[in-house]
Amino acid sequence: MRLTVLGSGGCMVIPKPLCQCRICREARKKGAPYARAGPSAFLHDINLLIDTPAEISCMLNRSRIRHIDYLTFTHLDPDHVEGFRMVEQITLDFRTWHAYPEKQICLLLPEELSQRLPSIHSQYGPLVDAYENRGFIRRKTFESRVQIGPVSIDALPVDRGEQIAFVYVFQRAGRRIVYAPCDLKPFPEHRSEVKRPDLLVVQPGIFESGLRHRFEYPVDHISRSTLYTFEETLELAARIEAKKVLFVHLEEYWNRSYDDYRAMESDVFSFAYDGMQVEV
Ligand SMILES: [Zn+2]
Ligand SMILES: [Zn+2]
Repeated sequence: MRLTVLGSGGCMVIPKPLCQCRICREARKKGAPYARAGPSAFLHDINLLIDTPAEISCMLNRSRIRHIDYLTFTHLDPDHVEGFRMVEQITLDFRTWHAYPEKQICLLLPEELSQRLPSIHSQYGPLVDAYENRGFIRRKTFESRVQIGPVSIDALPVDRGEQIAFVYVFQRAGRRIVYAPCDLKPFPEHRSEVKRPDLLVVQPGIFESGLRHRFEYPVDHISRSTLYTFEETLELAARIEAKKVLFVHLEEYWNRSYDDYRAMESDVFSFAYDGMQVEV
């Protein structure tokens, strides 16, 4: 399988608008791989786009993606869905106000996410309904597993009460990628699908030292309810016996540059950058 990390950043792009910190100044000057757009990836085997940050249209152009057959979301937080309108930018012929049929994108979602998607609105009502009615997308929902061409996809729920996020497991010809970029706590490590993956794509979790202004996370900080610490994430990866680990969703406030991350890498884990391609 071939995966492109379209964006390796997290909730905030790097450089964060207006920010004059060391990380953002360097990113502004040097661009990628120091600069990072929001969390999104593309699985080439089935032309599947995973998540649409606000800047997704530019990211697709930058990585020279030429066709999207499928779109899915891991969850509905703004940093993953704000760019949903890219389906209109791709498919609409503004001269006729009709969608090009050959550009229509299949929105592929687990049932529980599909049910929640209408909560995302514009002034015309739920975005998903408007896009479906106008032919930009067609919907395909599934329970927990779906086969798309040569790739099977398992959707494992991360139950977080009011919200829900999904860890996706992509498999092709005995190769396996576990994709868990955000909101992965509590990680469903009891599930057999996540054991011994060839590649785990995951958020590194909170870095507790080296933060700007010497910030320290209080023990009851809200981020601790959604994120593991970096050390806990490494332990998790070891417990599920991931053969390789690729860290994504790298946050500006962790105060680390591309070079800082490179210096931390090991034989097992590395840090993604925008446009990075991995083969499994
Ligand atoms: Zn900054
Ligand atoms: Zn996120």
